[in-house]
Amino acid sequence: MTRRQFMNTAVLGAAAIGLGSSRSEKPRMIIRFDTESRQREEIKGFFEKVVSVQRTHDIPASFFCLGAAIVMRESEFRAFSQEIRGDPLFDTQDHSYSHIGIGYSEGKSIEVLRADYEESFSVHEEVFGKRPIGVSLCGTSVDGPHVTGFDATEKSRAELDMLAGLGVRMVNTFLTGHNGAHEFVDYSDLGHPEMMGFPSANSDNGWVRGRKFGDPAEHIVSEIKKNGPLGKNMAIMFHDDTEWIDVNDKELDLMKLIAEVARDNGYELSTHLECYERFRRRMV
Ligand SMILES: [Zn+2]
Repeated sequence: MTRRQFMNTAVLGAAAIGLGSSRSEKPRMIIRFDTESRQREEIKGFFEKVVSVQRTHDIPASFFCLGAAIVMRESEFRAFSQEIRGDPLFDTQDHSYSHIGIGYSEGKSIEVLRADYEESFSVHEEVFGKRPIGVSLCGTSVDGPHVTGFDATEKSRAELDMLAGLGVRMVNTFLTGHNGAHEFVDYSDLGHPEMMGFPSANSDNGWVRGRKFGDPAEHIVSEIKKNGPLGKNMAIMFHDDTEWIDVNDKELDLMKLIAEVARDNGYELSTHLECYERFRRRMV
């Protein structure tokens, strides 16, 4: 049995997710912000509020930051970086420089993709003082249909290799036959046992801004109540601009609600980095 299969079995067994924790067998709730607004004025105040809400309510969350947004709002990102340094509630990772697509049938060449990520990583190094090891995949509308996973085509395999070569150690769970909404995987079958896949789901552009399932609060509470007892990991994908500008949730009430209901329903909240650290301890 490969490690990936082991982790998958653990998930299907509705018990641990296989991140090597003896302390806890609880399912994980991972909250992230794809932090990509390039609206310098309208987004002001977001970082201050999210930091204060997370600390007040003890909510871990990860920030997958777009290189171009960091450049556009540099002083704000620098202040954020300063504020959160060393605080395990916060985890900063990458979301490409230009919101470039990976995993699409008609995506950009490997060379163009690599250059985009390299540019973003160097911005991260400058502003956050560290190189990201995680990437959340970007959704695009110009690259044709999504393939089924990194294992689907020669090009998509090369994309995973490219990310690994840049030092990326965690990216969305994107493998044919695996549920990217709930499963952690490793990429050993594609030659990268060092890489972890993390669940990604519940983009706020659909259920919050788009009100795709009616009232957002009612919807997410019912999802948590449904998945928690089944031991299924959950992921929430917020966007800084969607929450702050588009739906004007200036108290971040949805994040508070999710954290509270998740804990009541058996979830342990973690940053992506904490999940990766457990994954790595398990791998060695
Ligand atoms: Zn995005």
